[in-house]
Amino acid sequence: MDEISLKALAKINLGLDVLGKREDGYHDVRMIMQTIHLYDRVEIKKTRSPHIHVETNLYYLPVNEDNLVYRAAKLMKDEFQIKEGVRIVLQKFIPVAAGLAGGSSDAAAVLVGMNRIFNLGLKQNKLMELGLKIGADVPFCIMRGTALAEGIGEKLTALPPMPKCPVLIAKPAISVSTKTVYEGLKLYDGMEHPDIDGVMESIQQKDLNGVASHMGNILETVTIPMYPVIKDIKKLMMDNGALNAMMSGSGPTVFGLFPNEKEIRRAYDALKQSGLAKNVYTSDIHNNRR
Ligand code: ATP
Repeated sequence: MDEISLKALAKINLGLDVLGKREDGYHDVRMIMQTIHLYDRVEIKKTRSPHIHVETNLYYLPVNEDNLVYRAAKLMKDEFQIKEGVRIVLQKFIPVAAGLAGGSSDAAAVLVGMNRIFNLGLKQNKLMELGLKIGADVPFCIMRGTALAEGIGEKLTALPPMPKCPVLIAKPAISVSTKTVYEGLKLYDGMEHPDIDGVMESIQQKDLNGVASHMGNILETVTIPMYPVIKDIKKLMMDNGALNAMMSGSGPTVFGLFPNEKEIRRAYDALKQSGLAKNVYTSDIHNNRR
């Protein structure tokens, strides 16, 4: 096999809590990660020349070491002394800098894909270890499904599958830097924290309404005052039948969980009409692990 085409699936956070700041500048988090069926397409082809060549449909994305797919390919080449090169064609559909881990998932696809086309025989655990060198979300993007993420997001515990439901994704036309959001977070004694255990228990009980009612993202305390449009999108989803709606990761993307196709369609149309969000997609829960 000289080439492979893979889907790089996005994630949402059903819960996101920050416990504190570490000495190295990272934050200790507790997050519920969930893969959704919204994806980039990553094609990888072996080449005789030793170079890494990246092409993408988004003109503003870098195609050098600043692209996470390039970094993932370089890591595999260096780590396993691969002499050949790769040509990577990246078709982006996941919004960029959105809180959906698009770049991390692309990198995960390159690790998985190169493992296959170069017959490296690496186990998933090893790929996840390598992925962590690229970013804290990469190990989860390799594993997929539903998981509790602790530490800086790299300590993963697989959870039972999240009950299926339609998911509405809406990204307003603003870019939010993950670093700025974490830096802007002010933790204080007595602060209300999201009920991560409640989300986990509801997942274990296969209780979709329970998941929806316990969802929470502490980073909204930073982003909503900065960008009130996030609150407006949440409200619009709630007014149009969402079980609950919340920001994913450090934002600005908002997702809503819906009880059925009819309700999500109504909310999709209302969002499109409102002009609040630039990108609006209907998606669903993807439970299969890799
Ligand atoms: P997370 O949920 O992990 O915070 P995100 O959705 O906020 O991820 P990404 O879309 O992964 O953010 O990208 C954030 C930044 O990384 C962008 O500013 C972009 O220039 C850079 N980047 C590098 N490689 C990629 C890639 N393959 N896809 C998207 N962005 C990339």
